[in-house]
Amino acid sequence: MSALADPRPASPLDVERVRGDFPILSRRVRNKPLVYLDNAATAQKPQSVIDAVAAYYAAENANIHRGVHYLSQQATFAYERTRGRIRRFLNAADNSEIIFVRGTTEGINLVAHSFVRPRLVEGDELIVTHMEHHSNIVPWQLVCAERGARLRVIPVDDAGELVLEEYEKLLSPRTRLVALTHASNVLGTINPVAQIAALAHQHGVPVLVDGAQGLPHLPADVRELGCDFYVFSGHKLFGPTGIGVLYGRRELLEAMPPYQGGGSMIQKVSFEGTTYADLPNRFEAGTPHIAGAIGLEAAIDYLNQAGQEHLAAYETELLGYATGALSQVPGLRLFGTARDRVGVLSFTLDSAHPHDIGTVLDSEGIAIRAGHHCAQPLMQRYGVPAMARASLAFYNTREEIDALAAALHNVNEVFA
Ligand code: PMP
Repeated sequence: MSALADPRPASPLDVERVRGDFPILSRRVRNKPLVYLDNAATAQKPQSVIDAVAAYYAAENANIHRGVHYLSQQATFAYERTRGRIRRFLNAADNSEIIFVRGTTEGINLVAHSFVRPRLVEGDELIVTHMEHHSNIVPWQLVCAERGARLRVIPVDDAGELVLEEYEKLLSPRTRLVALTHASNVLGTINPVAQIAALAHQHGVPVLVDGAQGLPHLPADVRELGCDFYVFSGHKLFGPTGIGVLYGRRELLEAMPPYQGGGSMIQKVSFEGTTYADLPNRFEAGTPHIAGAIGLEAAIDYLNQAGQEHLAAYETELLGYATGALSQVPGLRLFGTARDRVGVLSFTLDSAHPHDIGTVLDSEGIAIRAGHHCAQPLMQRYGVPAMARASLAFYNTREEIDALAAALHNVNEVFA
C-alpha cells in the first residue's frame, strides 16, 4: 500500500501545538507556506530560546567570571547553570567535563590539537568511518600529516551500515583514537556506538563521538555509550549558532594542554611562566558565547519538557511515512536504508541534478539541501557527485512530506 494512503493513526504528539512554539514555521516563502526540511543543516528555534537570548541581552548582559558587580554575577550564574544542565542532559559525571566551544567543528579540532597531536608518532593510526562529515576527517588529517600518522577507514555497506568485521581488523597496537559519528548526516544511519567503543577500549583506544546529528534525534548518555569524548552543536539542537559542547572524560581532559591561550584560562601569568586554570576554564579562553549558552539551556529545557523519547517516536514514524512516499516517485534512488536511522533522506532523481531539484522545490517554498553534504568520501563511495537531502525534525508533518513528494513528481515532469 502507498504510504500516502497509510491508514495508521497519527502519533499522539500534538504537532500543531509544537509548531506553534516555532515562530518561523508560520512564515511564507516565495508566497507559499514554508516547508522546512533542512534540519540537518540547522534546526529552527522555539520562542523560548529566542526569548532567553533576548532576555539576557535586555536585562542581564555582562561579562562572566570577572566582575564583582551584580550583573556579572547573574550572567556567570546563568552560564554555569547551563553547564550543569548539559551535564545532566548527557549524563556526564561532573560539570568540569563540559567544555563550551563554538560547535562540533571546534570541539573536534580541540581534541585533535590537545589530545591526539601530542601523543601521535610516525606510523600511528587513527580510525574514522567512511560516512564522516569533513569536520570529523580533516582535523585528523592535519595532525596525521604533521606527525607521519595515517587515517584508517571503516567501510560502509550498500545499506549504509558500518562493516564491523572490517573495523575489528583495523584495530591494532598502532591505533590512537577511533572517531565516528553518532548518526550520519547523509544516510541517517545510527551507529552502534556502545559496541564500537567497547571494542576500542579492549585495545586501550579512546573514542570520540560526533554527536552533531545524533543528539537532535536521540537521547545520548555518554556513560552508557562508553565514549571518551562527545561533541555537538547548539544550532542543530534547536539552540543558537556559535555555541556547542565538548564532553570529555575528566581524566583525559586533565592530562591535555590548553587549546587556545588568553584570558580566563590561566591561574597566574608572568613573563617567566604561566600556569593554567583548572577544568573547564582551561579550555575556554576569552569571552565565551554567553548568550549562546543561555539559549542552549532553553533549547535543552524545551526538549526535556517535550520528552526526547516522545519526540523521537514521532519522528521515526514520520521517517517511515516519508520513506514510503519518496519510494513512490519514479526514478528516485534513496541512499541509506539502515535498520536504525534518524530522519535524514538523501536521494537522487534520474530526471534532474540535485541542485535543480533544490531549485524547483525552493520555488514551492520547500527548503531541502543539495550538494555533497560535507561528506565527499561518502559521495565517492556511492558513485555520485551530489545528493538532494530532506531532513526531518519533530515539527514536520505528513502534509509537508506529501508536499515534498508532490513537488518531486513535478520535478520529474519539468525535466521529462
Ligand atoms: N558533524 C556532522 C555529522 C554534521 O552534520 C555537521 C554539520 N553539518 C558537523 C559535524 C559540523 O557541525 P558545525 O558546522 O556545527 O560545527
